[in-house]
Amino acid sequence: MVRIQDFNFGGLKAIVRVDFNVPLNEQGQITDDTRIRGALPTLKKILADGGSLILMSHMGKPKGKVNPKLSLAQIANTVAAALDRKVKFAPDCAKAADAAAALQPGEVLLLENLRFYPEEEGKPVGIEKDDPGYADAKKRMKDSQAEFAHTLASYADVYVNDAFGTAHRRHASTAVIADYFDADHKMLGYLMEKEVTAIDNVLRNAQRPFTAIIGGSKVSSKLAVIKNLLDKVDNLIIGGGMGFTFIKAQGGHIGDSLHEDDLMPEALAVLEAAKEKGVRLQLSVETVAGREFSNDTERQTVDIFNIPDGWEGMDAGEKSLAIWKEIILGSKTILWNGPVGVFEFENFAHGTGEIARYVAEATRGGAYSLVGGGDSVAAVNKFGLADQVSYVSTGGGAMLEAIEGKTLPGVAAILGE
Ligand code: AMP
Repeated sequence: MVRIQDFNFGGLKAIVRVDFNVPLNEQGQITDDTRIRGALPTLKKILADGGSLILMSHMGKPKGKVNPKLSLAQIANTVAAALDRKVKFAPDCAKAADAAAALQPGEVLLLENLRFYPEEEGKPVGIEKDDPGYADAKKRMKDSQAEFAHTLASYADVYVNDAFGTAHRRHASTAVIADYFDADHKMLGYLMEKEVTAIDNVLRNAQRPFTAIIGGSKVSSKLAVIKNLLDKVDNLIIGGGMGFTFIKAQGGHIGDSLHEDDLMPEALAVLEAAKEKGVRLQLSVETVAGREFSNDTERQTVDIFNIPDGWEGMDAGEKSLAIWKEIILGSKTILWNGPVGVFEFENFAHGTGEIARYVAEATRGGAYSLVGGGDSVAAVNKFGLADQVSYVSTGGGAMLEAIEGKTLPGVAAILGE
């Protein structure tokens, strides 16, 4: 295994999987270039060594078809400005052999959206899982995915994966391609290394007490995460919409709050498991309820077990926050994923803002804090606290799967299982 900082790219062509899936407005202009900036340390290192760059990424969900609205040509100028050099564009990522061969040291070639080819994701096209012939179609697709990955690999001497956001996918460019490079010619980029190290720090080397704060809308999307965390943490705070399933399962009256009836047995099992494992599982005790799901709706603070009919819990109440604050400030390691209220509504954002402040305060006091998952990242940004936590993860789905305890295919393809 090689590490990027120890590798000299001089005179070599590097094909780098980046995550340039940036948001665009109607005019095709980039509205947030965070992902492009995130890849710069890796790209600049390769160029500074005297290597040449072949950049590949997906954008959006073109589902295996060419879609000009999702063309990476739209971002070539921004990439050029960020790297401060010209960027050539290959309008067909699977037919870029000549352009790649012509690259000189220090030159950059950006390939068109990988997902214009169904082989990138490797899902059979035009056939559903239950259809007869699906198994054959899947096998054929696997072969053509390998061929597609081989074509991409043939452009370069070295493969670098710096796209953490897609590391949980076994796609041609994120994992399969690695089969065509020997162990000394494939590596994680700087961003990937940072992400993997941050998650490892928390899951394997956590200083105690270790507290996880899990919020968001649904238990179903984070059940596996919660179960895996029960074996790791000292304290587990469950807030936000998903908390109400736990309250209802214990006989609470939750009014019209969000919940998933079918997951109540699982919720009870989690409460039981927490007790057995000696984990302090702290649900909300008080909620700010609204009459309807809107910012300007009438509000009242109520006991979480007694929410009146016609009202729904939409933010954490002060009593919940006081208990959570004490837990968070007493922690040495903190993992936060998911808001504890409908933070998109100004009138229900207080609880999530407070959590962000407690995590920042604990970090100032020496705790290690990792914040990840789309909405919690949006929350720390909204409250201007992103630079006051130890690490903000860029990959929502990938981070969640890593916390579930899964080895990410994009990481395994390079480091081994
Ligand atoms: P997730 O994608 O599962 O992390 O959930 C994030 C979403 O959960 C955000 O859009 C929040 O508005 C929403 N959310 C958090 N708390 C509540 C709540 N009490 N009721 C409804 N939605 C909530």
